[in-house]
Amino acid sequence: MNQFRRAGLALALALSFGAAGAQSFSDADLAVAAKLREAGQASNLAYELVDSLVTEVGARPAGSANDKKAVDWAVAKLKSLGFPVVRAEPVPLKAWKRGEAHAHITEPFAQPLVMTALGMSVATPKEGISAEIAYYPDFATLKADTSDKAKGRIVFVDQKTERAKDGRGYGPSSTARTQGPTEAGKRGALAFAIRSVGTDHDRLAHTGATRYAEGVPAVPAFAVSVPDADTIARLQRYGKPVKMHVSLQAELGIDAVSHNVIAEIPGTDLADEVIAIGGHLDSWDLGQGAIDDGAGVAITAAAAKLILDSGAKPRRTIRVVMFANEENGLDGARAYAEKYKGQKHQLVAESDFGAGPIYRFQTRVRPEALGVALVIAEQLKPLGVEAGGNEGRTGADTGVIQRAANLPVFSFSQDGTDYFDFHHTANDTLDKIDPAKIRQNVQVWATAVWLAAQSPVAFHPLPAVEKKPAQ
Ligand code: ZN
Ligand code: ZN
Repeated sequence: MNQFRRAGLALALALSFGAAGAQSFSDADLAVAAKLREAGQASNLAYELVDSLVTEVGARPAGSANDKKAVDWAVAKLKSLGFPVVRAEPVPLKAWKRGEAHAHITEPFAQPLVMTALGMSVATPKEGISAEIAYYPDFATLKADTSDKAKGRIVFVDQKTERAKDGRGYGPSSTARTQGPTEAGKRGALAFAIRSVGTDHDRLAHTGATRYAEGVPAVPAFAVSVPDADTIARLQRYGKPVKMHVSLQAELGIDAVSHNVIAEIPGTDLADEVIAIGGHLDSWDLGQGAIDDGAGVAITAAAAKLILDSGAKPRRTIRVVMFANEENGLDGARAYAEKYKGQKHQLVAESDFGAGPIYRFQTRVRPEALGVALVIAEQLKPLGVEAGGNEGRTGADTGVIQRAANLPVFSFSQDGTDYFDFHHTANDTLDKIDPAKIRQNVQVWATAVWLAAQSPVAFHPLPAVEKKPAQ
């Protein structure tokens, strides 16, 4: 957002605050908000939930035996926390299962490579593939390539991921990961490899979903660790063919059923309006899924539990959703969008960016609710959270749901400076979570969700989405 637009939004917020002054929160509701901030400071529940999940279940790729265990864990845990409504809703899906994989450089100098298959990758033939590398410094160069350089070769895209507090480096790199195999396949390549989508320099590969466009030959796809990508880049300078061997096994299209696990605090006079918050219960197989997304399911469940324990009765229904299969297909979000398409939602909000502290609060609510949104933003300031504008975006799961019905959104920006050091690697483990920082997340969520539940103004319906011309 540019400065001018930001200033305009602040003005709009301030004006509507004045107009909506009469329609604000009761002193009792604000007192509960203060109590929640305080109670959150004393609660370790979110950290304990991640600890329990990763210790008792561990990695939980969608459709696996551990995914089932995670669903059982979630149902039992939410019941034991005392939520009045707990249920698991079936989500049928086609699972992908990683097999054995290895790759190494054969020429001009032999080098082993640390690598991992991308989710949904097809397998190589049993004997593997040996071919010359077609090197591209980034994804744009591959997309612009009209030559036959990739034909019969293993495409390697050396796309680097920028470290940023708000995680903006992930967008272009994850696009390279998801669309790269299709671009390689179109050009007659035998396989697709990418520099790990990560900001670390660890010799660990980052997995993540990829996909294939219809009608294009599907080529095996994998990521090499960042230091191994550096090696491949250095090998270019000898002006000799760089050759690689890769063998990658995988099973695709396995029929499986996972579940969205749901806990609710039923509302009172506005019970038919839902505040849906959550994260995803599944994880990649390489690590323990602590930051991605044990943290998100724990933060949102712990925030709802704080509200439950406050004894205050929310006007609107608070629904915690632990989504199935975010990582490799978004099946849980699609199932939710379909099942609840007719239901009024006060908002949807997702926590799926680790456990770093929240520094900014944004909304997407109808103009009549901007005054209330500003009061909520004021209530988050003591927690170190700045007010953003009304152009909040949401995560992958709630994004699917939001777009399906143009729903209002709360968005909490977390400091993700180190998130992509660990994301989708074997290093996604509990020690990456700071108990004090995850506690601040719970305080913010509990305060904002409570006030959204009590709002004198509905956040919906949003004005119809206008198609903006490209800039
Ligand atoms: Zn995630
Ligand atoms: Zn992920």
